Amino acid sequence: MNNNVKALLFNRFVLITVLFLALVFIANIMPNQQGNKPGDDKKVQRRIPVSYILPVDIFYIYLKKHDCPVCESKLKIAYESVFINSNSPEAKDYNYGENTDWKGDVEFRTGFFRCPNCMLELSFGEIRVLELRKRTTQQP
Ligand SMILES: [Zn+2]
Repeated sequence: MNNNVKALLFNRFVLITVLFLALVFIANIMPNQQGNKPGDDKKVQRRIPVSYILPVDIFYIYLKKHDCPVCESKLKIAYESVFINSNSPEAKDYNYGENTDWKGDVEFRTGFFRCPNCMLELSFGEIRVLELRKRTTQQP
């Protein structure tokens, strides 16, 4: 064997080793993502779809800074969840949209403001009213 053939064989050996290691690596990750071991079926839960009930003035709410009317800390957005089944009577009050996959339970999240300092909670509508009132009273 001359050196060129040796080098070629060595390169191929390295390539196969790397590919093999990559396969072993991927094979180790896959079961963790799936999480399906035999007899584990009962633990596997259907992922419940989440729908965010967004305010009409989404930019005003999410992009503008809002201060707590009590202690003037910066308010943080928090979410409150309700789980509504598409077959239940209250489902008519919620928007399941065009998404036909949303059968059964759907999680509807409504955002609201919470003050991290004094724990005051305000709905998006309430902060809007308060800020409008503040603005009109500040003007001469
Ligand atoms: Zn506060």
